[in-house]
Amino acid sequence: MNRWERRIERAEELAREYPVSAELLHFYRDIAKFQSGVKRSPAESLEPLLQLIRRTAPDPMAQAARLPVTWDELLRSADPLHSFFARVLLQAFAEPVEGMAAGGTSCPACEARPVAAVLRPEGDGGKRFLLCSQCFGEWEFRRVLCPGCGEEDKDKLPVYTAEEFPHVRVEACETCRVYLKAIDLTKNGLAVPEVDELASVPLDLWASEHGYAKLQVNLFGL
Ligand SMILES: [Zn+2]
Ligand SMILES: [Zn+2]
Repeated sequence: MNRWERRIERAEELAREYPVSAELLHFYRDIAKFQSGVKRSPAESLEPLLQLIRRTAPDPMAQAARLPVTWDELLRSADPLHSFFARVLLQAFAEPVEGMAAGGTSCPACEARPVAAVLRPEGDGGKRFLLCSQCFGEWEFRRVLCPGCGEEDKDKLPVYTAEEFPHVRVEACETCRVYLKAIDLTKNGLAVPEVDELASVPLDLWASEHGYAKLQVNLFGL
């Protein structure tokens, strides 16, 4: 199974498991199928993407996709829906680099910011990685360290969990009031971090209600 097939299959699994996120996950599945088939440049793939969105997306996104727009206009646009279309196309061409060395607060390969952390089993505990919001590549990052401001005092870095998502933690920072979610593969080895990050959107609502800002929004701007 290639990485796109893994994402598509995981989106379907999670949609069954979490009805509250099913609509978003089904939409993501359609987007990932499209991304996996993109062969031509982003500019040439824009019209097929707009067609897909007109067919499958909810309004007002479907409506936005009815208005003509060129690739250059899309890149300059301040419209969040245009940014979403651009992210989908750029991501289709972003190949993750396997086995990246430990790094800082942005992706060593494409310089995008991390959309989540990933805890991978290692010895007795887990090693922490950051997950690139664009290529979904991972690089190692210290476990007790805020990627927002560099805080390293454990007492200022609370971790929140919710029963519905036993393998997803909200890792917050009291100093900069930023958070990111960590997908804990030591608790669920079947998780596909970039897809489980989408399924756990209810945790983002919770964090926002508690005054935390997300370090980096995901593909859907959530
Ligand atoms: Zn990257
Ligand atoms: Zn911080």
